Amino acid sequence: MTGDASLAIVRCEHCHGRFLPHPGPCPRCGSTELLAGEIPANAVVLAATELQAPAAGWPAPHRLAIVEGAESVRILAVVPGPLPPLGSVVVVQRSGDLYVVAPDSGAAAASGPAATPPIEAPADPTGAPSPRGPREKRARRPAK
Ligand SMILES: [Zn+2]
Repeated sequence: MTGDASLAIVRCEHCHGRFLPHPGPCPRCGSTELLAGEIPANAVVLAATELQAPAAGWPAPHRLAIVEGAESVRILAVVPGPLPPLGSVVVVQRSGDLYVVAPDSGAAAASGPAATPPIEAPADPTGAPSPRGPREKRARRPAK
């Protein structure tokens, strides 16, 4: 993948929060003083998981990763391929309303034997779909 891809973000002038573009005011402080910006598309994998019973409309298994890009922007991204190792650097691409980990970008950063995913999806004996949709899990922790 090319290393010069970028992702659009929004910077809040009031609380200095950084987040992905979305309609409405700053999710942290409610300010409407928002400036559009962008960060490199490279991000570090903080967590990754595989859902066997994803929300309606998603194929199973459904793999997700929480990644952190520049300026502490956290992104919930769909993983189309194998789960990337924690701490690896992946390239995130925007695809419509989704963010997607570029195929092979995590594998390329990994070295040595394939690592097993350190975070396992909790067992769900009922097989019931998760009540939370994939877009409601975006990290909302304040930036540094
Ligand atoms: Zn704000």
